[in-house]
This record gives sequence, C-alpha cells and structure tokens, in this order.
Amino acid sequence: MIPLLPALHETSGTTASREAVRFGDHVLTYAQLAGASASLAHRIAGAGRVAVWATSTPRTVVAVVAALRAGVPAVPLNPRTGGHELAHILADSTPSVVLAGAGDELPAALDALERIDVDTAAVSSHAPPLEPPPESPALIVYTSGTTGPPKGAVLPRRAVAASLDALEDAWQWTGDDVLVHALPLFHVHGLILGVLGPLRRGGSVRHLGRFSVEGVARELLAGGTMLFGVPTMYHRLAGALADPAVSGSLTKALAGARLLVSGSAALPVHDHERIAAATGRRVIERYGMTETLMNTGVRADGAPRAGTVGPPLSGVELRLVEEDGSVLDDTASIGEIQVRGPNLFTGYLNRPDATAAAFTGDGWFRTGDMATIDADGYVRIVGRKATDLIKSGGYKIGAGEIENALLDHPGVREAAVTGEPDADLGERIVAWVVPTDPASPPGERELADHVADRLAPHKRPRVVRYLDVLPRNELGKIMKRSLGV
Ligand code: ATP
Ligand code: MG
Repeated sequence: MIPLLPALHETSGTTASREAVRFGDHVLTYAQLAGASASLAHRIAGAGRVAVWATSTPRTVVAVVAALRAGVPAVPLNPRTGGHELAHILADSTPSVVLAGAGDELPAALDALERIDVDTAAVSSHAPPLEPPPESPALIVYTSGTTGPPKGAVLPRRAVAASLDALEDAWQWTGDDVLVHALPLFHVHGLILGVLGPLRRGGSVRHLGRFSVEGVARELLAGGTMLFGVPTMYHRLAGALADPAVSGSLTKALAGARLLVSGSAALPVHDHERIAAATGRRVIERYGMTETLMNTGVRADGAPRAGTVGPPLSGVELRLVEEDGSVLDDTASIGEIQVRGPNLFTGYLNRPDATAAAFTGDGWFRTGDMATIDADGYVRIVGRKATDLIKSGGYKIGAGEIENALLDHPGVREAAVTGEPDADLGERIVAWVVPTDPASPPGERELADHVADRLAPHKRPRVVRYLDVLPRNELGKIMKRSLGV
C-alpha cells in the first residue's frame, strides 16, 4: 500500500528540499511540511475529529496534512461561513479540536472546542505516525449547498488516493508540475485536487491567496505548469484577453501552460471559445462532486471541446439512467449520470436515509446530474435534475444549452435559465439576464431573434428577466434556489 503522501516520507534528497507550497512569500519545502505536520499529528493523535479553520494559508495545509498523518478525520471549515451554517456543520460533525492560525479570530460557535494554533515551523522529535488503513475516513467535506443545506461527505483515504491517481493518469501529472491555485481550501476542488494532488505527486503549489488575472499571468510565466479554476475565473481571464493592457502577457502565460483545467460548474461555451481563439489553448474540463471526487475528465492527450467534460476517468464506471431506472443504451438522449468506483465516498455523515437514497441496490451513486454522451464517449452535462432540467411542451430541455446561446450575445454578461409552472406547457422557459451595459440592456425582442438562430423553437425562452448580478456561491456556482427554483 503506497502512503497517501509518499513525498513526506523522504527525509533527504531532492524532494525533501523541493518547494511543496508557496503562499506569497511563505514557502514550505517538503522537509518543512513533513516536520511541522508530524509534530502536529503527534499532538492531535487520538482526537475524534478535528476542525480546520481553512484560511488560504500554509497553516491550513499543515493542519490537513497533520490530520491525515494522524488518521484523525479533518473537517475543513469555510472561514467566511455565516453563523447558522457554521453551527449546522459543527453540530453535525462534532469535532473536539479546532486547528487555526495564532492570529485568527474565531467565531463564538467554536469556543467550546479545544484550540490548537498551527505552527508551520515546528520540527518533530517523534517518529512519523504509521499510515492509517485505506478505508479509514480521511476528510469530512461539506457539499457546496447549491441545492440545499450542505451535507457532510465522509471520504476514505482510498477514495482520495484513487481519484488523484486517476487524474495522474489522465493528465500525465508529475512531481515537476507547479500548480497555480486561487481556490478556497475547504472544498474538494481547492483542497483535494489543488493541494493533496500536487503533494501526492511530489510537485508544488503556488497559491495566490485571492484570484487575480495579474497573479495568474505572473505565476504561469514564473514556472507554473497547470492552472485549476472555476468557470467564473476563466470568464475573467477571457475578458482580460480582450484588454490591451494585459492581453500580451496573459496570452503568453495561458499559451505556455501545460494544462488549463476548469471544474465545479459548467464552463460556458462562449468563454471556452474566446480563450481558444486568443491563446490557441483549449481549457479542459473535468467533472466531479464532493461525494464522488472526480468522475470524468478530458485527458492531457485528449481532444478538448467546448461543452464536454471528457470520458470517465480510469477506474470509474459511468452510465446514464432513465427516470424509471432503466439504463439508456442510446446515450444521445438525456439521462441521469450514475457512477461506481473506488473514488466514491462511504456515506453522508449522520444521514443514513440520504445515503441509502443516493445509491442503487448494486452500488451505483445517483449524481443528480443529467447528461448525454457523444459517440466518442465524452460526457456532456446538460445540468442538474433538480434545477436545470426543464420539462416544457413534452420535451426535456437542459438549461445549459439555452444559457450558452444567450451568453453568445455581446449584450449579455451573465445568464441563467429556469423553468416556471405554465398551464399550457407544463413549464415555461425563463431567462435571467445580467446585461453587459445596464444602461442599455438587450431587449426581449432582440434576444428572441438572437436565440432563434441557435435554438429549436421549443428551447427558446418565453420570459426574460433582468438582474444586476446572479446569485452565486463562493465557487461561483449559480444558486438557482434564489431564482425561485
Ligand atoms: P449541494 O450538493 O450541497 O447542493 P453542490 O452539488 O454544488 O452542492 P459540490 O459537490 O461542490 O456541491 O458540486 C458538485 C456538482 O457540481 C455536480 O453534481 C455538478 O452539478 C457540478 N459540477 C461539477 N463539475 C462540473 C462541470 N465540469 N460541469 C458541470 N457541472 C459540474
Ligand atoms: Mg451536490
């Protein structure tokens, strides 16, 4: 059994002196991360669960790595979570300890926990802990809360290792890769892919603290080989490519990266194409969930194209299922994605009913995401069953295709499409539009003409509503619940 983070076991040699993480000026080599995490692992050994105050700092990395080494499940907390959600997560996960930075001010909800301040310079005099067994819980990560209150997904070490190894295979990911990172560290994308991914390979992470176009360009030009982002980041990069002040260096930076990867939500076709046109590079998409880690991804040697998240990753079985539970053989029709494989979680914390409902009798996980599959096996997500699948006039219509058609209009900055009850159609299609120029939004008539060239009649919005901004969560996911879905 290979340890989860093999590079931490090397006490000398090139890996030990290599940069593991860098946050601005604060650098930890593998040897420093190994020392600090072993020291903290010794302190927390035997704790039931530890909460990690997951600021975008090296302390969070040390805290999570220490918990992994101690075999104590870690619960990463979003430092910006409001009182109610934080109270829900604490009551649900019942950690006994919180790991934080000495200067962090913690909310009163955490007062009852023992606090340990993380020392990134500590050196352990104790023997490194033994590797915990593969089925033991490594992390409890809460879902993003896009469709309801966040649920705690219990992730065993086996799932983390399997998913990261499938990505290694797909992306030819090595210890020479330097990841440019600007995501928060309390979800799967930023923490498991963005931190544990490079650490499992013996590679490096450069975290920007906060996303900025300039920061991405700077770090990619200074040796970054990969960029992981969410669609809102690629939207900003696509916009900046049209800005003469930054387009020169940014084009060079993006064109020179080995991999530009997007995930957590669908990357609009318009942004994908704008980046491809300006840089000659196509962003590759991967599709995952807190519960399943990564399911599909375009391979480094694959054929990226807008609107697809690639084929299933190695070890992952994927199928499309009809509403009545029958498996689709015609994958050109829309069905729900179900997955099976070593990448899956063991269940939702304290929610046996939700866990049972999420799995079929033979162990397939119901993702709640709807898709079709292209002839070459590339999956096309059309949206979530709960919020993005509109049933109108006897058709099943995915919101994504309509959103992409609207975003293709220069007067549309952001778009979200929902279904609303309709006496004739069952549901009517509603377009929520954020205009590029609020002073002169594109009229309903103009948008109708625009989409008429791109969409079949039954897919055209019946109603257009204008907003100043779309409701989004911290990963930039559109919260359609706030749009009345
Ligand atoms: P909750 O389950 O609490 O409602 P959530 O589903 O947004 O929140 P996550 O587990 O963070 O929480 O997100 C997983 C979901 O994100 C997937 O089910 C899918 O809908 C969406 N997603 C992830 N990657 C992609 C992608 N590349 N394209 C389209 N959708 C994606
Ligand atoms: Mg979900």
